[in-house]
This record gives sequence, C-alpha cells and structure tokens, in this order.
Amino acid sequence: TAIRANYDAPRLRRLDAAHHIHPFSNATQVVAEGGGKLFAHADGIYIYDTDNKRYLDGMAGLWCVNVGYGREELVEAAARQMRELPYYSSFFGGTTPPTVELAAKLTELLGHGLNHVLFANSGSEANDTVVRLVRHFWNLEGKPKKKAFIARRHAYHGSTMAAASLGNWGTMHEQADLPLPGFHHVEAPYWYAEGGDKDPESFGIACAKAIEAKILELGADNVAAVIGEPVQGAGGVIVPPKSYWPEVERICRKHDVLLIADEVICGFGRTGAWFGFETLGFKPDIVSMAKGLSSGYQPISAVAVTDRIAKPLIDAGYWLHGFTYSGHPVAAAVALKNIEIMEREHLVQKVAKETGPYFAQRLKTLEKNPIVGEVRTLGLLGGIELVADKKTRKRFEPLGHAGTVCRERCLANGLIMRASFETMVLSPPLTITKAQIDELVTLAGRALDETA
Ligand code: PLP
Repeated sequence: TAIRANYDAPRLRRLDAAHHIHPFSNATQVVAEGGGKLFAHADGIYIYDTDNKRYLDGMAGLWCVNVGYGREELVEAAARQMRELPYYSSFFGGTTPPTVELAAKLTELLGHGLNHVLFANSGSEANDTVVRLVRHFWNLEGKPKKKAFIARRHAYHGSTMAAASLGNWGTMHEQADLPLPGFHHVEAPYWYAEGGDKDPESFGIACAKAIEAKILELGADNVAAVIGEPVQGAGGVIVPPKSYWPEVERICRKHDVLLIADEVICGFGRTGAWFGFETLGFKPDIVSMAKGLSSGYQPISAVAVTDRIAKPLIDAGYWLHGFTYSGHPVAAAVALKNIEIMEREHLVQKVAKETGPYFAQRLKTLEKNPIVGEVRTLGLLGGIELVADKKTRKRFEPLGHAGTVCRERCLANGLIMRASFETMVLSPPLTITKAQIDELVTLAGRALDETA
C-alpha cells in the first residue's frame, strides 16, 4: 500500500505561488489563485489531489504514464540500481549494465536497421541531439550545405532552442525570437481544419507534396532532414490520412533527405504498435523517444539511428555532444523494467486489438454533442475538436476559451482532459480497461454538455 503523506496543502500552495514558476502555465493566474493545483498520490489510472478528490487521468500525466501509476516493480528497479550504482557517466567510453541493456532492447523493438542509440533526459534534449547529429552527419558525408530542417505547422518538438525551432507554435517563437535560421515549416495533414473540399487521402498527398515543394524551393542540396510526429499530439491529436507518411517517405528518399520520426508521444504502444511509424507505414532514419520509454517514472529520452548514420559518426572518432546524465543507470533500469511490464502484460497488443478500437467507438459517440465538430482517435490517442458551428466548422471566439472552460468542467467532474488549442486531447494510461473507458467517456460527455 502506498504511503500517504500528510501534506499541509495551504502552506505548500502559498510557497508555490511565491517561489515556483510553472512551465507552460499562466503565471499570473497561478499567483492570483494562491498557488498551483496540488496532486498528492496516484494509483492505476487515477490521481488524487491533497483533498483526496479523485480524477481519472485521461492524459497519463503528460502523455507519458503508459503503464499507469503505482507500479512497485519500477520503484524496486530504481532502488536496486541506486544501491548498486546510482550514477556513472557514459562520457569517455564509460557505460553501465542497464544503459547497455536498454540500448540493445530499443534496437530490438525498433528494427529496420535502427541499430544505434544515444541517450538524453527529455524529449527536447533528444530533438536537440537530433539536430546536432544530423548536421554532423552531413558534414562527415562531405555535404556541408545540407543543413535545413523541414517541419510542419502545429508541430511540437520541445522547448529548447532547436526543438522549439522545429516546433511551430507562434507564441513560443515570438517569446524567444525563433525559429533559428534554417528551420522551415509547411502544411500539416490537418484535414478537418485545413482540408477544404479535398477528400482526406488526396489532402494527405497534397500535404506531402508541400514538403517536396519546400525541398525544391530550398534546393535538395541544402536540405538535411524532414521531421514529424507520426500523429501530431500537442497540436491537437492530428491523425494524418493514410496516404500521407508513405508519400513523405518516398519524397525524402528521392531527394536524399533524412526522415526523422519524433516518437516522444507515439512511441511505446500509444498507437497500437511499439512505434507510430509502424502504424502509419513508414521507415524513419532517425527516431526520438521519451515519455513512455520510462512511463514517466524517471526522466530519460533516446535517439535511435540507422547504420548508415552511425557508421560515419563512429569512423570519425570523437563527437563532442552529450549530457552528464546521458544513459543514467537508474533511469535506464526503470525504462527496462517498464518495457518488461509492457511486454508481459501485452499492452501494445491490447491497444491494437481491444482497448484502442473500443476507445475509438465510444469516443465517437461524443460527436453527437452540439459543440463537437470531429472526434479523432488512433490507438489510445484521442482528440475532440470543439466548434461553434458544426456545418461551417467555425471556431469559438476568443480562440482557446471553449477548451479552457471544458478543461475546467472536466476537473470539476473528476477527469483530467487537456485542451490543445481547439481540441480536447486524451492519452490515458495503456492499462485502462473497457469499463474505465466507459467512465472516461461519460465524464467527458458531461463536461462537454456543461461547456456547450
Ligand atoms: N516531442 C513531442 C512530440 C512532444 O510531445 C514533446 C513533449 O510533449 C517533446 C518532444 C518534448 O519533450 P520534453 O517535454 O520531455 O522535453
């Protein structure tokens, strides 16, 4: 049984307002409300605040607690590794047993010649690593002009300077004078909002062709790589038409441009396969991973690359990149145990065959609600797009307000469902049962009714 500490919530909230600047939060509001929302403990798919109010966590934390809360095995894996060797560096040729085991395990799960792994601590660091790695690679290949990155609108790849440049959120860019030079963005395959009168599959092809047009505009000799989340998560669970990714892959191969899959959300079972690229039918040269890699129990991320990319790097000797905690043994031990749990409980297969299809069918019923324009799902990813007018797909004004109201109605009803722009997004733990999916949909329906 979990230890339930007796927190002095009023004191903690006071200190929070006084001293803690929250990431991606309205700081004015946090201070005005006398501190942030305090969560104290969790079990399975439920999380509890300091008043012991229960919430169904429809977001698995921040798209990450794939095996659910309260996993004693992960606690034990961390404790065992801390006792044995809490830290050693992977710099200067060092390594530790769990670091090695995890690298090998990831290459086994990934397949497709993605045989080499680098470690970092967060999705942002993984994607920053990707940018440095790709630039180094093309220099080594004797093509130093190949430096430009092409990403998509609505993308989120992280918060550091290069990762945020790959992303495409206006305010993030404005607040830090981004993107950095050499980062370009093209249409995303967001059919519901931007597809016009095209059918989804031809819209998918048109969006892939937008990437080719950008490659031709910049000159293929200047383009290093294309990066994308298989399904754009934080941008609003934008599930691409089936035609999209195979065509993007074909275009990248044709112009010798590397293809990077950001699997930070889609990886580790979320879409009903170990990786989103399998579900969506393409083979990347580089894969970034985080979140579900350790189910959020420890901060760890990874970048996998094919032999083609690893070989020149290895042949070149020193590459001056990495972090003190790259391949951290405790985080690696937890990630390994997390993968073991996922395999033992057949979580990926469950999402593909059982809970994913049920989630799709049940969530779709919410399209009856007058403010729901479209419900999108893939595996256990869900998006509920809010509109003021279903026929014209006109959005609510001011933009984002309906989502904020809906998120608050969810909290009041005991559900954590996040608002991403005009879309309510869901990403529950992969352990969620059919009965719990029913509960989630009931609570979401209630919150939508109260928002309408
Ligand atoms: N890439 C994607 C697709 C993400 O969704 C996120 C975070 O939500 C990141 C990268 C950044 O990961 P982190 O917050 O661990 O830096």
